[in-house]
Amino acid sequence: MATSELHPYSKTGGLADMVAALAKTLAQKGHRVGIVTPLYRGIRVKFPELRPFDWQMALPLGGEIIPAQVWTTEPVKGLTLYFVDRPEFFDRPGIYNENGADYADNAARFIFFSKAAVHLARYLPWAPQILHIHDWQTGLVPMLVQHQRLAEGWGKAVPVMLTIHNLAYQGVFGAEAFALANLPSDWFNTGTAEFHGALNLLKAGIATADTITTVSPRYAREIMTEEFGCGLDGLLRHRAEVVHGVLNGVDYEEWNTEANPHLKFRYSARHLAGKTRNKTALQRELGLPVNARVPMFGSVTRLAEQKGVDLLVPALEEMLGHSMQFVLLGSGDGRYEHSLRSVARRHPQKVAVRFGYDHGLSHRIEAACDFLLMPSRFEPCGLNQMYSLRYGTVPIVRATGGLDDSVVDPSENKQEATGIKFSEYSPAALTQALRKALALYRSKPALRKFRQQGMAADFSWDATAARYVRLYDGLLK
Ligand code: ADP
Repeated sequence: MATSELHPYSKTGGLADMVAALAKTLAQKGHRVGIVTPLYRGIRVKFPELRPFDWQMALPLGGEIIPAQVWTTEPVKGLTLYFVDRPEFFDRPGIYNENGADYADNAARFIFFSKAAVHLARYLPWAPQILHIHDWQTGLVPMLVQHQRLAEGWGKAVPVMLTIHNLAYQGVFGAEAFALANLPSDWFNTGTAEFHGALNLLKAGIATADTITTVSPRYAREIMTEEFGCGLDGLLRHRAEVVHGVLNGVDYEEWNTEANPHLKFRYSARHLAGKTRNKTALQRELGLPVNARVPMFGSVTRLAEQKGVDLLVPALEEMLGHSMQFVLLGSGDGRYEHSLRSVARRHPQKVAVRFGYDHGLSHRIEAACDFLLMPSRFEPCGLNQMYSLRYGTVPIVRATGGLDDSVVDPSENKQEATGIKFSEYSPAALTQALRKALALYRSKPALRKFRQQGMAADFSWDATAARYVRLYDGLLK
């Protein structure tokens, strides 16, 4: 596999969790898995077990030859990680951006990374049979593989699977960046990497990968429509035969309430008292009035347009007259930070917000809250709602993508309901869902049933990994 993020080494979102968990599950099932990922700043300090790999790489990147080192470690048997070490590209404070601005050389950084992944796939002595790539950062890989097969004697070139974690991020650069790929210039055309005159790395991947997956069945259908297709719906319809929607799983070794180093109090579906204690502990931590009985809503999210912060703020304004608390952990766009801070300033007894990336706090919020809000405009899979279910926290979600696939609303199945869904993308629709949540909170037996149903739901990786294995098998035939 090749990925630009890998939990616990680097992460901005669900991509990091998905690749780590899929790879671990495959390895546990007896497959041999390698993951190629960049060596970002701080990884070697935090993970001193990384060893230098006896490997010299010097790869062309446009007119230059760029050397890189590789570091390696084997976190579980059968899984080897290969960290591509090129300080000029990856020893920086951010992964993709800094102070809100994308790094100007992202095309060079990730085209180089893609080349390193192909190089390892080709020359590693254990000869991987398939290369599974993720998102735009590795989108050029299938073309690089194809070129090495046709022009550079790689007779047994690997088939390539692309997983799209989010179609909204495509890696679009000026057309001149295609020269960094060192591919024949006529390979840059509208059937491959060219998109309205620009270089589009995700498009290259979609056009040329052997198989494509995305992270939920509903999102797989949505991205073939104009509304969700981000300009690539036509191409995706054209490739529909090789596009599969596979709902991500959850790593329950990491996301559980019974043995979790991030939680002060353990609890289970049968013994929920610990959940309430986590709630009062969080109230203390965030400086909110300590009250076990007040309904607590929460959100852990990237602050991006996708995530529906522009619904959240007006809906909160509308609802904060009620007895409730709201806590949020977010990182991203400063505009949203500003509006959330302003809500918190005006309602210090009810709202607490924290900005930045904090893994431990994300667990504590999931555990403490009664309800978790995900009013996303679109959501390829979404992991937090599945974490919430396991944590006995009722998700309130917009019925889109993986949110729709993983949460059951009472209107769909009264007996098996696990959450509250709304459809229209509007503050009024979210407000109405929040009202439903408050009503549910008042009815203790109903709330208990939602929680128990959610905590029993099983999104473990076993079934999901088995699905990937079937798709890999298909590629090898
Ligand atoms: P996306 O990948 O679009 O960001 P997902 O729901 O698939 O959304 O995955 C989000 C992941 O990132 C979850 O594991 C969530 O807990 C985590 N996360 C998001 N924002 C933060 C943050 N500010 N601090 C810690 N974890 C975060």
